[in-house]
Amino acid sequence: MKEQNLRITLLTHTHPDGDAVGSTTGLYHYLEHLGHRPTLVLPDACPENLQHLLPERLCIHNQDPEQGDALLENCDLLVCLDFNQLKRSGSAEAAATRSQAKKILVDHHINPERTAFEEVYSEPVRSSTCELVYYLLLQQPDVNGKAQNLPFQTLYSLTTGLLTDTNNFNNSTTPATFRMAADVCEQGIDLDEITGRLYRSSRPNRLDLMGYLLNERRLRFPELGAEIMTFSLADQKKFDYLSGESEGFVNLPLQTKQVHLSGLFTETTEGYVRVSLRSKRGFSANRLAQQYFNGGGHENAAGGRLYLPIQEVPAYFENAVRAFMEQSENRAQVL
Ligand code: 5GP
Ligand code: MN
Repeated sequence: MKEQNLRITLLTHTHPDGDAVGSTTGLYHYLEHLGHRPTLVLPDACPENLQHLLPERLCIHNQDPEQGDALLENCDLLVCLDFNQLKRSGSAEAAATRSQAKKILVDHHINPERTAFEEVYSEPVRSSTCELVYYLLLQQPDVNGKAQNLPFQTLYSLTTGLLTDTNNFNNSTTPATFRMAADVCEQGIDLDEITGRLYRSSRPNRLDLMGYLLNERRLRFPELGAEIMTFSLADQKKFDYLSGESEGFVNLPLQTKQVHLSGLFTETTEGYVRVSLRSKRGFSANRLAQQYFNGGGHENAAGGRLYLPIQEVPAYFENAVRAFMEQSENRAQVL
């Protein structure tokens, strides 16, 4: 990455989360520090509580597909972060596929689509793509293993994804996760300031909505140890919902001992229902998402899509989980 005139585009997945925005902007600031002028392409807008991370050269693909396609096609290097298949880049997929640029994947999901990329940095053991980017950057000769040689904004962005993808160090952590956290704190990163922006800056709507979905839109399947919430377009309108405002709600039902699988189903204007699944250790949300919800993800946090009216989702979910649990390898062994 020495040539200064390389045109570099960074790309991540649809509905960008903290790890998607953190890893792309973390790398962006490192590349800028080396003298490059990268551009970030997001397939669609990110939630309000991540917007402070967005860099100067940015294109939201579904808002400006022409510019987005040009950035994806007319570049020398296309770096894809935090997703494992080009189809996860939504409206950017076609141009990203056509692009003749050298494509590099940096990701922590299992089974990456290796044939679509010239270089693949895939480490599913990493808590987050941000953690993976951090350790890859430490290996760069100019960084020489020292966090102090990375730009502050890189550390700031990468810490955001480290927090969000681990649910604040609650899951997917390894000793390396905490080593990174210690390193960034030593460099002056203020975790309390970052968590404040992420979790203590919502509009009142979020709490109202959380109460409503928990009380009015939660369905329980006690024999399956599962609970779901459905979030229709009508309810989104009622609460003046902004994308991202229901982040984390899917984890709530797992607070009860009896529940080992939780789902949040969000109706979209694009003709499908967005699926978000979380499970406790011993139940594979990933396999369930792959087999029944046109998706995938991590062992205990996965997502997908359902092409069904939202009213039909509960019955579909119940049948799907029942069939899934009849396969002996999937029978829950919840701790
Ligand atoms: P979330 O529930 O937060 O939207 O997604 C949880 C995880 O599931 C994400 O980190 C991602 O790995 C995965 N995921 C979400 N949606 C999809 C999807 O449509 N397809 C696939 N393959 N994975 C998804
Ligand atoms: Mn991630």
